[in-house]
Amino acid sequence: MKTIIEPFRIKMVEPIRMTSELERTEILQRAGMNVFLIPAQEVLIDLLTDSGTSAMSSEQWAGIMRGDESYAGATSWYRFEKVMHEITGMPYILPTHQGRASERILFELIGGPGKVIPNNNHFDTTRANIEYSGAEAVDLVIDEAADPNNLHPFKGNLDLRKLENLITHYGPKAIPLCMITITNNRGGGQPVSLENIRKVHQVTKDYGIPLYLDACRFAENAAFIQQRESGYADRSIREIVKEIFSLAEGATISAKKDGLVNIGGVLLLRNESLAAKANNLLILSEGFVTYGGLAGRDLEAMAQGFQETLEKDYLLYRLRSIAYLGNHLTQIGIPIVQPTGGHAIYIDAKSFCAHIPPYQFPGQALVCALYRYAGIRAVEIGTLMFGQANETPESIPKERMELVRLAIPRRVYTQSHIDYVIEALGEIFAKRETLSGLKIVSAPSILRHFTARLQEITPTNPPRN
Ligand SMILES: *Cc1c(COP(=O)(O)O)cnc(C)c1O
Repeated sequence: MKTIIEPFRIKMVEPIRMTSELERTEILQRAGMNVFLIPAQEVLIDLLTDSGTSAMSSEQWAGIMRGDESYAGATSWYRFEKVMHEITGMPYILPTHQGRASERILFELIGGPGKVIPNNNHFDTTRANIEYSGAEAVDLVIDEAADPNNLHPFKGNLDLRKLENLITHYGPKAIPLCMITITNNRGGGQPVSLENIRKVHQVTKDYGIPLYLDACRFAENAAFIQQRESGYADRSIREIVKEIFSLAEGATISAKKDGLVNIGGVLLLRNESLAAKANNLLILSEGFVTYGGLAGRDLEAMAQGFQETLEKDYLLYRLRSIAYLGNHLTQIGIPIVQPTGGHAIYIDAKSFCAHIPPYQFPGQALVCALYRYAGIRAVEIGTLMFGQANETPESIPKERMELVRLAIPRRVYTQSHIDYVIEALGEIFAKRETLSGLKIVSAPSILRHFTARLQEITPTNPPRN
């Protein structure tokens, strides 16, 4: 059989509210053309993020009931610790409330002024935690990553030549660790090959620099290695995952992604004295070492989620469902970042809305059209997100991509939901010249995309019905 089906059946349903285009036009107006300001109940299909939006399994819910809420040494903690140790081989396992808490503890210990920390691409919170410590965060992803049409199978790879140059320039003493993000979220959810991880490990080891992983999507990355890297087709996902972690001195993980839970995180360490210091910081702000910032029931759900995420059928379905959306959009001529990554599809809005210049936010124009036309919530990753308040139409960097991300929550939507998304995008694409650019009415000076209010340059007429 060629058809890959969802490897689960549905036991509990959550209704989604149908709205009319007229209603949505008004809702969007009220929200200042910013989908972050729309209440979730007014959204039909929510593709804002894959973080913390997974559907839990019946076994995870059973774990929620089983959760041992003892302050110290809870049964749920021992189960979680055992599972994470088996999967990763790491000796020191620290539970945290989410990924950024793990990052804060790690960089408080090893960051600081004068330090430089390389990565393929630092995720926003990783960069923020490094910079907050006074250190510098440097992105060293391969050049192929910047070209949406380049079909390199591992576009998340870290450039070894750039890494050598960085080490020569700053000296190994200034570099307390090198990170690799798997999959590379900021670079479109693109995977990193095991060959690349091994080579980075070799280079850094020669200079005495430990290698750490930002491993939020390690299962999806391992599945890509199994599918795309020669020599791994017959290796199990668990073996590949073990091999990845065997090359690392530690890892930060947000369990809200591949962990298949709605909240949770982990810090993994190999070094005993560093782990002792990290435990002190953990107690200071997260909680005692056997629960971190979590309830016992959360640890149960994570222990179960991290095992389910490594199941072959689940990962096959997961990567295939992203590729399904990407392939159908490509077939109807919609430009997307190729090849499809692990958790989202990125539409190239510069080319989709070629008539809207970057300073009029072509990505946001498409995000608004998707919501108004079909009730779908996506997110702009372009000039609204990254632009500066003092930018002029002329000073916007030409190489900046204007993307719209459709992130796919895990196990939440069925194929017919995705077919609906494809149809909606096809119909918007057919009348793309009618989309209007936008201008900012009000915005804060930092992280403006969350709360900015905008206005259409040419107001779209409400639909006649
Ligand atoms: C989500 C994410 C984080 C931060 O995790 P939170 O749980 O949101 O704090 C760090 N790195 C990457 C690559 C992520 O995707």
